[in-house]
Amino acid sequence: MSDATHEVLNQPEPLVGYNLFAAHTALRDALKFNAPCLDTAPLSVLGERLGTPEMQLHARLANVHAPQLKTHDRFGRRADLVEFHPSYHALMQAAVEAGLHGTPWVGEGSPHVLRAAGFMLFTELEPSVLCPISMTYAVTPALRSNAAVYADWGPKLTNRAYDPALKLWRDKAGLTMGMGMTEKQGGSDVRANTTRAEADGEDSWGRRYRVTGHKWFFSAPMCDGFLILAQAPAGLTCFFLPRVLPDGTLNGLRIQRLKDKLGNKANASSEVEFHRAAAWLVGEEGRGVPQILEMGTMTRLDCALGTSGLMRQALALALNHATQRQVFGKPLVQQPLMRNVLADLAIESEAACALAMRLARAFDRKDQAYEAAMARILTPIAKFWVCKRGSHFAQEAMECLGGNGYVEEGGESVMARIYREMPLNSIWEGAGNIMALDLLRALRKADAAAALAQELGPAQGAHPALDRLAAALPQRVEEMATEVEARRRAQDVALAVQAALLYQSAPQAVFAAFCDSRLAGHWGHAFGTLGGGTDFDLLIQRALPR
Ligand SMILES: Cc1cc2nc3c(=O)[nH]c(=O)nc-3n(C[C@H](O)[C@H](O)[C@H](O)COP(=O)(O)OP(=O)(O)OC[C@H]3O[C@@H](n4cnc5c(N)ncnc54)[C@H](O)[C@@H]3O)c2cc1C
Repeated sequence: MSDATHEVLNQPEPLVGYNLFAAHTALRDALKFNAPCLDTAPLSVLGERLGTPEMQLHARLANVHAPQLKTHDRFGRRADLVEFHPSYHALMQAAVEAGLHGTPWVGEGSPHVLRAAGFMLFTELEPSVLCPISMTYAVTPALRSNAAVYADWGPKLTNRAYDPALKLWRDKAGLTMGMGMTEKQGGSDVRANTTRAEADGEDSWGRRYRVTGHKWFFSAPMCDGFLILAQAPAGLTCFFLPRVLPDGTLNGLRIQRLKDKLGNKANASSEVEFHRAAAWLVGEEGRGVPQILEMGTMTRLDCALGTSGLMRQALALALNHATQRQVFGKPLVQQPLMRNVLADLAIESEAACALAMRLARAFDRKDQAYEAAMARILTPIAKFWVCKRGSHFAQEAMECLGGNGYVEEGGESVMARIYREMPLNSIWEGAGNIMALDLLRALRKADAAAALAQELGPAQGAHPALDRLAAALPQRVEEMATEVEARRRAQDVALAVQAALLYQSAPQAVFAAFCDSRLAGHWGHAFGTLGGGTDFDLLIQRALPR
């Protein structure tokens, strides 16, 4: 006789052992649209690996066993080390092997689109480790402004080798980089930075400075080097600051403590102080903000990609549950009202994916004026809108699982982890208002209205609500919104561009449901309020993870 108390009934099997890429129809269609010639075989290999029980276990363990800060060794000497669970390193290694860090900068064809798709898929497994991966990807355009440092570090930022050891750059096969802008008195308004830099001569890496001050948020302090902002004689300036100095000694970077965060548990976000740390000039003295924003632009792309990945993961979990759970005599997925909720989530997830992947394409083709204009406009749009929708989305997906969605059980249930992660992409790398205000600046450029019209052109005549919005946009752009209207403007542009993209890359039913609900107003303020004429079957079938 078993000692079990009862038979466990009507609980779904977990979503594991499937190919995340094969299951993501919307992503595959977005790839066909943005990079028709792309060889997607590497994504299939990655998708298979990410869905394995082994990788899912790593994701759980890396989050449950949060990083630990070791400020001193047992003899009292400064150590400034962060210790991670082995699963963290396994995830980092997998991300680097997949080329999600610096590889697009040496790739050909559509390397940013390829990497964007991989990044989105990896987010479905675990987003925290992607913080240092994203910064290592993003740093290249800014770091190139110090040609000597870039010549030494560039090849190792793109190499598919992960080496977590605290060693001299020369002795490592692969390097990672982070960034330090935010100080206690200002994160959005970095001109308020008080960290100061004093000139300290010149060497083979160019003009060297000594930096004294702090950073209030400094994610991934175990990276090999950082771009930071500090006040130099000519004003706020961007610097390259390595952890280990060229002579092999540790730089003056002290990790004060790790942040106790809502989510993003596997990532060691820290507070640091600089004690006359050696740093080298990147770009021009006094031009630090535009210089470091070349990095920020790329991390903003990753915020949109990351949230799209989290949405997809939450949707897949909700569908996995709804197809297996029986309520009132039939599977949850067959209950008409639940079908409305799931279909509405599927539309949102697909629209987020379409917008984020479209933005990635702009970075592959930035040598074309139109694509450069779209990169400028769509970066704040995608970061603002996709990330803003994320938390609302996660709550609704969680509710599809009922009480199970709210329970974590040592990280075994992933939905709560997604929910805690969701707000972050909206806050860091420029919070929502900052993105909306940035859009206003982007729209002031002479070519903005024409570029937007060109972007929406292919969908002209496809839906009356999109035509109305598209017709109104040029005037709204010309008239220029005041700051108080900036979010409204960002929402308008985001919805119009998403609709036009879905027209070109998704089935007609997805496009029609998006326009009917998001543009023609046939929906409410909660998910699950699509009109009765929606093709629920198609929307749900298309999104099923298996
Ligand atoms: C987990 C985590 C990790 C991080 N890692 C890093 C890192 O590695 N490096 C780094 O440099 N930073 C990092 N950050 C910091 C992050 O980028 C900042 O928190 C963010 O930019 C907001 O800055 P702040 O916190 O100083 O808020 P504030 O600048 O005070 O902003 C508060 C609110 O005011 C709004 N706001 C600001 N100005 C205006 C305005 N003019 N009009 C209207 N609204 C406005 C903002 O949108 C925001 O909603 C991290 C943050 C978190 C949470």
